[in-house]
Amino acid sequence: MQPVTRRVAVLGATGSIGDSALDVIARHPDRFRATVLSANEKVDDLIELCRRFRPDAAVIADESKFATLRDGLRGAGLATHAHAGTQALSDLAGSDHCDTVIAAIVGAAGLNSTLAAARAGKRILLANKEAVVVAGALLMHEVAAHGAEIVPIDSEHNAIFQCLPHPALGAAARPGVRRLLLTASGGPFRGWDRARLAAVTPEQACAHPNWSMGRKISVDSATLMNKGLEVIEAHWLFAAAPERIEVVVHPQSIVHSLVEYTDGSVLAQLGNPDMRTALAHGLAWPERIEAGVAPLDLTALGRLDFQPPDLTAFPCLDLAFRALRAGPAASTVLNAANEIAVSAFLQRRAAFLAIPDLIAACLDALAAERAESLEELLALDARARQVAEARLAA
Ligand code: NAD
Ligand code: MG
Repeated sequence: MQPVTRRVAVLGATGSIGDSALDVIARHPDRFRATVLSANEKVDDLIELCRRFRPDAAVIADESKFATLRDGLRGAGLATHAHAGTQALSDLAGSDHCDTVIAAIVGAAGLNSTLAAARAGKRILLANKEAVVVAGALLMHEVAAHGAEIVPIDSEHNAIFQCLPHPALGAAARPGVRRLLLTASGGPFRGWDRARLAAVTPEQACAHPNWSMGRKISVDSATLMNKGLEVIEAHWLFAAAPERIEVVVHPQSIVHSLVEYTDGSVLAQLGNPDMRTALAHGLAWPERIEAGVAPLDLTALGRLDFQPPDLTAFPCLDLAFRALRAGPAASTVLNAANEIAVSAFLQRRAAFLAIPDLIAACLDALAAERAESLEELLALDARARQVAEARLAA
């Protein structure tokens, strides 16, 4: 039987996940067509991708680059329609141009387009974890209400999705499931103490030992906030109570995560650290397709190590658990403060150890806030950014 062709919108096409997604799509021209591509401001890269993939539409989020995009597409003789701005991103994510949306924008900037895809009942390949952290309850509600699908792309959540009984969304609350175990590589500073961490640079923080990723998530991996965001993401995707989520440091990043059952069984998903596995899984699910990933050679690896996380040197993981227990609004504050802190660190306006301090201060200032609707969540996100910027300037 000929497989159905999926029409795929790749939001964040110029990023690390976008690149891996397009690699998998290009391997299967009979199954997938990239119909919508988007970028924030790298307009030349976007035009180049349009030459290769010939999508129906291209969106540049930065509206000042619209004319460059339009003229570039025309000059290349492409029929691809040029669009600009965040509203266009959401409109296209929810449009008939696609049935599948790869949510690979970084940060809360990806929230609106992810929600638009949910409301239009799309299959969402969800890499944009910040959208879940900012508005997990709302997103899961919209997915259920509109018959959308989520296949998590974050490697840990993709692993858990594969190890849980189906339907996997919400399945951690089912009888028989005891715990979700999220693995963490520990990042480039695993084993370091606070004294050594005081002077680390953005270059050191972005040099991840196992994964090649965008700069924001690389810093998050170095602080362990990435794992904190993932704990919150797992809570919403799988309906797992905070006390049933555990983090285990596993330096080799081969075991992507595990599910423990009440009978003592522990199911894990293993593979080489390459995001194309999760993306191919999400694109073809429930089928399996070639992803271009090297087979796992266990005897060459020889050993797999596991250890507890060091919460003294890396307090961000604890801050995320604290926010999760405090209620949904606190996670929105945590994410916004982290985005500001990471950006300041990357611009050398803040030290590495100032990242958790800034987030803790924002949580103290705004933890009692309430926010449920999208408008309230976005307003709280904006306030938390203001509080964080004001503290940085002080
Ligand atoms: P990246 O920085 O490499 O790419 C980000 C993409 O988003 C780019 O295409 C950029 O143009 C676009 N973008 C950035 N800001 C935008 C804005 N304001 N409006 C519209 N578009 C914008 O990041 P990445 O590493 O590909 O990560 C993307 C997302 O996937 C993040 O949420 C990250 O946490 C998640 N993720 C990434 C990996 C990985 O291996 N890279 C693994 C798991 C999860
Ligand atoms: Mg991950």
